[in-house]
Amino acid sequence: QESWTSDSSDSVISSGSDSEDQLFKVILLGEHGVGKSSLARIFGGVEDLQDVEEAGNTYDRSIVVDGEEASLLVFDIWEQDDNHWLHNQCMKMGDAYVIVYSVTDKASFEKASELRIQLRRARQSEDIPIILVGNKSDLVRSREVSVEEGRACAVVFDCKFIETSAALHHNVKDLFEGIVRQIRLRKDSKED
Ligand code: GDP
Ligand code: MG
Repeated sequence: QESWTSDSSDSVISSGSDSEDQLFKVILLGEHGVGKSSLARIFGGVEDLQDVEEAGNTYDRSIVVDGEEASLLVFDIWEQDDNHWLHNQCMKMGDAYVIVYSVTDKASFEKASELRIQLRRARQSEDIPIILVGNKSDLVRSREVSVEEGRACAVVFDCKFIETSAALHHNVKDLFEGIVRQIRLRKDSKED
């Protein structure tokens, strides 16, 4: 059941032909080194490509959540840096956002807050699913951000929260399933 196909980067630009099939665009945001690409590769099932530092990638995969299939297009393109056009595009095109920080890096946690504010500004009145992700939970000894701090931040910013470890594959599946559930919840409540 777990099928995936890699996607060409030109889909970055395509302005989502509104589709009957559920294709959800998920954008990964966060500072360099927090684990965005690692999480995306686990999702895409292409961890072997690990050492390839690429400018940007998208991963297209269908997953079954609560007995229903959903297709996610995950964009790991945020770090093509100093590219304002791309950053604006990222802020506009997502159906859902994953804001990643590292629990071992306080500065990345503070950056996550900034990104949340930027996102709110870009999408004003829209109620888009956002998940705050504290990655690298396996690095217990070098932790700089507690679970409580992460959770409290998510409450303030009105978004979901999860801690993950890409290294141990801990909670990565839950993260992406959680995104699908968040998107569905909002769609359902709109369709009354
Ligand atoms: P990105 O810059 O946000 O895309 O981060 P990367 O996915 O490239 O990861 C940066 C570094 O952190 C790499 O050396 C990864 O192997 C490492 N890394 C990513 N996630 C984890 C994790 O959950 N635990 C540990 N220990 N290392 C991680
Ligand atoms: Mg990366």
